[in-house]
Amino acid sequence: GSSWAAVPMGPPDAILGLVEAFKADTDPRKVNLSVGAYRDGEGKPWVLPSVRKAEERVMAKMMDKEYLPIVGDMAFVDCARKFALGKESKALAEKRVASVQTLSGTGSCRVIGDFYARFLGKGAAMYLPAPSWGNHANIFKDSGLEIKTYRYWNKQTNGLDLDGMLADLQAAPDGSAVLLHACAHNPTGVDPTPEQWKTICKALKARPGLSLFFDSAYQGFASGDAEADSFAVRYFVSEGVPIALAQSFAKNFGLYGERVGSLNVVCETAEEAERVLSQLKIIIRPMYSNPPAHGARIVGTVLSDPALETQWRSECKMMADRIIAMRTALHSEVLKAGSKKDWSHITSQIGMFCFTGLKPDQVARMTNEFHIYLTKDGRISMAGLNSKNVAYVASAMHECTK
Ligand code: PLP
Repeated sequence: GSSWAAVPMGPPDAILGLVEAFKADTDPRKVNLSVGAYRDGEGKPWVLPSVRKAEERVMAKMMDKEYLPIVGDMAFVDCARKFALGKESKALAEKRVASVQTLSGTGSCRVIGDFYARFLGKGAAMYLPAPSWGNHANIFKDSGLEIKTYRYWNKQTNGLDLDGMLADLQAAPDGSAVLLHACAHNPTGVDPTPEQWKTICKALKARPGLSLFFDSAYQGFASGDAEADSFAVRYFVSEGVPIALAQSFAKNFGLYGERVGSLNVVCETAEEAERVLSQLKIIIRPMYSNPPAHGARIVGTVLSDPALETQWRSECKMMADRIIAMRTALHSEVLKAGSKKDWSHITSQIGMFCFTGLKPDQVARMTNEFHIYLTKDGRISMAGLNSKNVAYVASAMHECTK
């Protein structure tokens, strides 16, 4: 018989649970600002034409459906790491980067989490920014790490708490791991400036006992320029600081459900990179054996064809620009609605999200009275806004913060 009589009902996922509630809502005014997926000006999911074109080329090749190697599609992986680190990267030329394809960004986080649990030791600390993407803590806890946080968001200024961040990282014990968002910090939309990144890099370079992990889920999506968005990662590597790097192609290529990502561990020597790679394979093999081929072939096709890559860059910029335009619109509409509050953070933040500053009771009103769905921390996905709903959302934000 079943032994599961004592299994308790688990809570719904904090973000994906909202999608279910939104679907069940029959109010015609309903707006979904919960999940971080791009929507076009009509509120519809958008497949990038460059991605469609690459997909057609992949299909035309009539390739077989054999397993990929444990490390994935190496042609994709090589394009992906050049995309992040730069085609001229010295670390790549010196063959000291261990890279594998992963199940998008989430899978990349999980593989490095397991690697840290093995080689820093079970229960080693993983320092996350406060706040961070909701799934980070769950991933690294399940890997066997102990979650700690460092100060990041300054409530008073709606900006970066650089001093708090540096003090907390300074105090982190050797043998800990530290997660940094490469760009477009989720959920706050607040990134260090290049000058602040240099300060952070200097402080962390002086702490070789810490293992640094960049999570890059929005390269190109933040500013519209994939080169500018990789500043922090490239700066740390150019300073000779060993890092690990997760790449997701969910948002910037709009390949959410295809699960395209990679994990790169920048090592000190080529020989070290070989040893690290051997261990990544040992972690991956019993976990999911090998990654899916289709999406990786699409990204590999785009990034290895200069014309397609140029087209992708302009389409990625289009997405970023529409989001920036929605920030301007939301800001002006909330003032037009009569709010006397300071909403300048709507336009100063970058990336997919706006951290509105709405309190949990205000968020509850937004959903219960106005049928607008957002996460409890007050985060809204800017991509869910368009010219038809932005004034409605702005007036609701004003009503709930009066
Ligand atoms: N990391 C961050 C900071 C994210 O915001 C996300 C997605 O929301 C991810 C990783 C992972 O997304 P995916 O697994 O779809 O690539």
